[in-house]
Amino acid sequence: MSSDGDASIRTQRAVCFSCAQQCGVLVGVEDGRVTSIAGDRDHPVSAGFVCSKGMAAHELHNSSSRVHVPLKRVGPRGSGEWQETTWDEALKEIATTISDLAGSFGPETLAYSYGTLHGSDSGIGERFMHLFDSPNAVGQDKVCYGPNALGESLTYGFGPTFYTTPTPGKTRCMVIWGLRPSASMPLLWREIVRARREGAKLIVIDPERTHEAESADLWLQSRPGTDVALALSLIHGVIEGGYHDAEFVEEHAVGFDELRERARAYPPERGAEISGVSEPDLLAAAQMIATHGPTLIHGGNGLCQSGVAAVQAGRALACLIAITGNIGVEGAHALLGPPRDVLANGEALEAGALSNLQREKRLGADSFPVIGRGYNALEEAMSRGWHGNRHIPSWLATAHEPTLWQAITQERPYGVKALIIQGHNAVGACANAAAAVEALSSENLELLVVHDLFMNPTSRLADYVLPAAHWLEKPFFSAGVGYLGIAGDYVEAAPAPIPAEYEHRSDYELWRDLGRRLGQEDQWPDTAEEFWDSLVTPAGLNFDTLCDHAGPCTNESARLASDSTDTRPAFATPSGKIELHSSLLESWGIDPLPSYEVPAIFDAATDAYPLVLTTGGRKIEGFHQNAQLMARFRDKYPHPLVRMHPQTALEAGVKDGEWIRVETPVGAVRQQAQLTDALPERVVQADRWWYPERADDAADPFGFASTNINFCTENAEGSCDPVMGTWLLRGLPCRVVAEA
Ligand code: SF4
Repeated sequence: MSSDGDASIRTQRAVCFSCAQQCGVLVGVEDGRVTSIAGDRDHPVSAGFVCSKGMAAHELHNSSSRVHVPLKRVGPRGSGEWQETTWDEALKEIATTISDLAGSFGPETLAYSYGTLHGSDSGIGERFMHLFDSPNAVGQDKVCYGPNALGESLTYGFGPTFYTTPTPGKTRCMVIWGLRPSASMPLLWREIVRARREGAKLIVIDPERTHEAESADLWLQSRPGTDVALALSLIHGVIEGGYHDAEFVEEHAVGFDELRERARAYPPERGAEISGVSEPDLLAAAQMIATHGPTLIHGGNGLCQSGVAAVQAGRALACLIAITGNIGVEGAHALLGPPRDVLANGEALEAGALSNLQREKRLGADSFPVIGRGYNALEEAMSRGWHGNRHIPSWLATAHEPTLWQAITQERPYGVKALIIQGHNAVGACANAAAAVEALSSENLELLVVHDLFMNPTSRLADYVLPAAHWLEKPFFSAGVGYLGIAGDYVEAAPAPIPAEYEHRSDYELWRDLGRRLGQEDQWPDTAEEFWDSLVTPAGLNFDTLCDHAGPCTNESARLASDSTDTRPAFATPSGKIELHSSLLESWGIDPLPSYEVPAIFDAATDAYPLVLTTGGRKIEGFHQNAQLMARFRDKYPHPLVRMHPQTALEAGVKDGEWIRVETPVGAVRQQAQLTDALPERVVQADRWWYPERADDAADPFGFASTNINFCTENAEGSCDPVMGTWLLRGLPCRVVAEA
C-alpha cells in the first residue's frame, strides 16, 4: 500500500474479481472512494495486465442501482413493494422461519443456490448447509467447467488439467475448443499469443469465425452439439494414423483397445458428416495434435453447456490428451491437484459434516450418479491420489437446479420450502426460465431470501433482499484456481481495498450471522480472514503473511517438506491408471467409453425447428449478467442480438436490425437480428437477459419475460447429462420468425 503524502489518497494492492482470472491490480482510493484500477506490474502472474472490465470494476461498485439496505417484502410477491429493515431484524425472522420449517420438514427443506464466482467467499454458504445437515446447495458447476473437470477426473483423476497455461518455448501446439479466451480468459489468451510468437501452432474448434479462429493455423467450423462425434473422429485419426503414444498408453492406461473399437465407428467421413468439418481438416488436426506436441487442449463452456453430451465431451477430450501422451510433459497438460497442506475444496466447506443419509437425499441424486450414489467412489479414488485430502470432488456434486424447481412446485421428491439465493440471477441464467419463475412465485415456497448487489428479475420475487458487498469491499483469498483449491498448489491473499459501504455485507458475514443463530455458534470465526487463517495453518501460513507476499505463494513455499514415503497412485482413479474405459461410469450403468448422443429435445422437433440455437457467448466488456449494468458495455450493445448467416435470414424472411422471434420447443422471445457470415448457415446465436434499467416496466419488469433467451433453453431430464445433470444451453433445435 502506498500514499502520495496526502493521507486521503492511497494505492492499495489487490486481486481483481470482476472475472475468475485473478489479475493483480492497484486500486486507487481517494477519500475512501475507489477512483481508479490499474494493472500491478509486480504481480508475478498477470504482470501489469488489466482488461477493460477490470479497470471499470468501480463503476459497477459505485452504480446507483446497488441495493444498499436490507428490504422486506410488504406487498404481494413480485409487486416491488418493500420496507426497509435492519440486518438484525431480517436475520432474526429468517432464522426463525428456517428453524420452524426444518423442524416440520427436515433440514433438506432449505436449499441454497449461488451463481458464478463473485468474490473469494462465493459459495461459502455450502459450509453452512453441510453443518445444518441440508444436502441442497445448488451450484453452477454443471454448466461451468464441471463437465470437463469430471470428464478428466473419471479418466485420469483430478485434474483439472485444462487450467494449464502454455509454457513459453515448450508448448508447440494448442487447441481451443468451444472457448473464446480473448473475451473470457484474457490472461490465458495473452499466453497463447506469446506461445504463437514462439512458433506454437493453434487449432480452433468453434462454430463461429471468432478472433481466435482468424488467428489459427487451422479452424474447424463445427456444428454446435457435435463435439463428441468430432473428438471420436480425431481419436480415430490419431490411432489409425499410428500417431498415438503407444509406450505411454501401454505403461499408464487401461481400455485402449475398447477406445480404438469405439472410435472405429467414427471414421473421418462420419465425423465430417456429423460435425460439418471437412475430412481433410479433421485429419490434419488429428496429425497436428499428435505429432506437433507438446500439445495443450483447452475445452470451454461451448462443451460444458451441451446438456446430454457434456461429460462425454470432457471424457473424449481427456482420452485424446491421454493417447497422445500429453500429460505430465513440460509444455503439455499438468495434473494440477489441490494444494497439499491447505484445507481446500470440501474440507474447507465441512462437506464431511453432512451425513450419508442426508447426502442421498440431495436433489438430483436419484437421477445423476455423481450427485448421488456414485460420489463416494469418486471421492475415495481422488483422496488416495491426493495426500488423503477429502471431498475434493464435492464441487462437482452439488444439487441439481432443475430438480430444485420441481421440488418447490411439485414437492417431488419432497418439498423445498425455503431458499436462499446468493449472487445469482437464477431466472436470467437457468435453463427453461419459466420453470424457475413458476417455482419462485409458488405459494409452496414459504421463504425466499436473495443476497445480491442489485435488484433483478430474481430478487424482485424475494421475501427479503439483502445488500451484498462488492469484491472491492472484501478481502481476497485463493487456494489455487477456483479459490477453494479446485486446482493449483498455491495460495494468495490480499486485504479488502475499502471497507464495506452502507449496509453491504459479504457472503461470509451473512452465513456467519445466520449460522450463529441456528446452532453453529462455534463454527464461524469472527472474520473471513480468521476463517482463511484456519485453512492455511497446516501449511504454517496465515492470512497476514500471505498479504505481504505480492502474488501467489506457490509450490514449495506453500507446502510442508515433501513426504519421502509418498505412495500415491500415479493417477487418482480406482485403478490408479488412466482409464480410457471408465470403471466408475461402468459401475453406474453409463457408457464407459466416450459416446455421442443427441438431446431428446431433437426427437420431435426436426421439421418445425430446422435451425440450431447456441446461447451465452461472452464479450470482453462483461462477465455474465452484471455486464448489462456497465455503461461501456451497454453503449456498445444496447439490445440483445440474435445473430445468423445472411442466407439463413433470407430463407426466414428476416432483415438485419429487425426485431424477430426466436422459438424453440421450450419457449419464444424477441431479440434484434444481426446478420453475419461469421456463423455457418442454419446456426443461430442469441444473447441472454438484457434490461436491468427496466425495473419499473409493469408489463414486463426488466424486459425479462420478452427477451431472456433462457425461456427457450431446456432442462428436461432427457436432454440433461446422465452423469451430473448438465442442462442444455447450447445446441437446441430452433426457428426464427420475422414479426408482421
Ligand atoms: S481478466 Fe480483467 S476482469 Fe478478469 S481478473 Fe483480469 S482484470 Fe479482472
